[in-house]
Amino acid sequence: MQWHSWINGEWTKTEGKPDTVVNPATGEVVAEYTAAGLFEVEQAVAAAKSAFYKGQWSRLSLSERAARLYKLADLMEMHQKELIRWECLQSGKPIKLVTYSDFPFAIDNLRFFAGISRVLEGQATQEYNGLHTSWIRREPVGVVAAIAPWNYPLMMAIWKIAPALAAGNTVILKPASITPLTALMLGPLASEAGIPEGVLNILVGPGALVGDALVRHPDVAMISLTGDTHTGRSIMQAASSRVKRLHLELGGKAPAIVWDDISLDNAAQGIAVASLVNTGQDCTAATRVYVHHSRYHSFLEKLQEIFNEVRLGNPLDFKTDLGPVISRSQYDKVRGYINQARTQGAQVFSCGRRAPDCERGYFIDPTILTNVEQNWSCVQEEIFGPVIVVMPFENDEEALVLANDVDYGLAASVWTNNLQRALDMSKKLEFGEVWLNDHLPLTSEMPHGGIKQSGFGHDLSHYALEEYTTIKHVMADLSDDKIKPWHFTILGDVPST
Ligand code: NAD
Repeated sequence: MQWHSWINGEWTKTEGKPDTVVNPATGEVVAEYTAAGLFEVEQAVAAAKSAFYKGQWSRLSLSERAARLYKLADLMEMHQKELIRWECLQSGKPIKLVTYSDFPFAIDNLRFFAGISRVLEGQATQEYNGLHTSWIRREPVGVVAAIAPWNYPLMMAIWKIAPALAAGNTVILKPASITPLTALMLGPLASEAGIPEGVLNILVGPGALVGDALVRHPDVAMISLTGDTHTGRSIMQAASSRVKRLHLELGGKAPAIVWDDISLDNAAQGIAVASLVNTGQDCTAATRVYVHHSRYHSFLEKLQEIFNEVRLGNPLDFKTDLGPVISRSQYDKVRGYINQARTQGAQVFSCGRRAPDCERGYFIDPTILTNVEQNWSCVQEEIFGPVIVVMPFENDEEALVLANDVDYGLAASVWTNNLQRALDMSKKLEFGEVWLNDHLPLTSEMPHGGIKQSGFGHDLSHYALEEYTTIKHVMADLSDDKIKPWHFTILGDVPST
C-alpha cells in the first residue's frame, strides 16, 4: 500500500518523490509513501485557510467542537491495535511503552483539551476606567503548522493538534518523514469524527522543504515545533520576516542530582527508568547523574545491576524493555558519542541482555559513562540514546552549578529527603520542570516546557490551550457622550477646574 498526504479531507495522490518507512528493529521497509512537495503545501494551506474562514470549526459551539474531539479519541481507541502496531513498526518503540504509556496518555490529552476548551477564561470583565466596560476575547490564531518529531510520533501529534483544534484553529500537521504513519492515520479518523474537511491536514515530507515552506507561508499564522534546538533556530529565522507566532519545544539534557540522605535503591531504579525511557530518545530523559561523592560508588554499582537486567529485543514483544534507536544515522551518532568519550578517557560500561533477533536492527546497549569531564560533549550535548553519564559532586553549591551548566533547560530531578534542600534546589535549578524523588511523570493538567535553549511555550495544561489563541481586548463606551472627558488632550482647551 502506498501512503499519501491527507489534504482537505482526502488522500492526495501526489506526484512527489516516493519514500519509505524503515523498521529500525530490522532495517526492513514497512511502508512506502509519496512525499509532499511545494504544490501540496499550497493545497494544504489553501484548504486550512478556507476551512478557517468558513467557520465550520472555529465558530462551532464549544460543546459540539468538544464532542467531535471526544469522538476522535473514541475512534482512536477503536483502532488502538493498528495504531499501536504501526507506531512500533515505524519507530522501534517497545510495545509495552506504547500500549501502557504513549497511547493512553495521548487519548487522555485529547480528552483533556476537548473538555477544558469549554472553560477557557479571560480576565474579569470590569469598568476599569469608570467609562468603558472591558473584556477579553480569546480567539483562534488561524492556520497553525504543527511540526512534530520522530521520538513519540503519535503522542507528539496529539500534543500539538489537540490544543490547536480545541481552540478553534485549523491545522497542518507535518510529522517527521521517517515516522509519518500513525499521524496520517488520524486523517480519516478525524473526518469520521465529524471534523470538517480542511480543518486537519497532514503533510508528509522533508522538513527542509515541506516544513520550511509551511514556516514561510504567508497564510500560516503560527508554527508549533517539537524538535531539535538547531531546527528551532532555523525556524525562528525563517519565521522572523513575517513575525510569526512560535511555540518551540526543543532539546534537553536533564540532570538528576542524588544526595547522601536518600535510598540509593529508589534513586538508582528511578534514574535507570528515566534514562532508558524510549531507548533514551526522550527530551526529558535523565542523562546526567550527579551523585554525592560519599555514595558515588554504591550508586554506580546499583545502576549497573539494573542496566545489566535490561532486555533488548523485538519491540513487538511485551517482554522487551529496550528497542533500537530510530535509524542508522542515529545509531552512528550515539556510537560516535560513546567512542569519543572512550577516546577522551571515559570508562564505558556496556550493559543489557540482547535477544538473538537484535542482530539486524539499530540496537545500542544501555551504556554508563564515568570518569567524564563536565565540558565534554557527552555531558553537554543531547545524545538521544540509552547512554547516561555519572559524576560525583562534593556539596550543594557544586551540584547546582554542574546541573545548571548546560545550554538546555527542560527538565531536572532532585533526589533527597531533606525538605529544605529539595525546596531550595527546585527554586534554583534553571529548568522548566523539576521532579523531587522521581523523574519523568507528566500529566495533562500541568504544563511541560523548557527555558534557555530548550525553547519556549508549553505543551499540556491550559497554558498550551492559551498559546493557540490570541488575546483581544474589547472596550465598550458606556456614556454615549459626544465629547469625552479626555478629548481635550487632543482637541480643545484644558478645562478649568
Ligand atoms: P528535528 O528537529 O530533526 O525534526 C523535528 C521536525 O522538524 C520534523 O518533522 C522535521 O521534518 C522538521 N524540520 C526539520 N528541519 C526543518 C526546517 N528547517 N523547517 C521546518 N521543519 C523542519 O527533531 P527530531 O530529530 O525529529 O526529534 C528529536 C528532537 O526533538 C530532540 O532534540 C528532542 O529533544 C526534541 N524533542 C523535544 C520535546 C519537548 O517537549 N521539548 C519532545 C520531544 C522531542
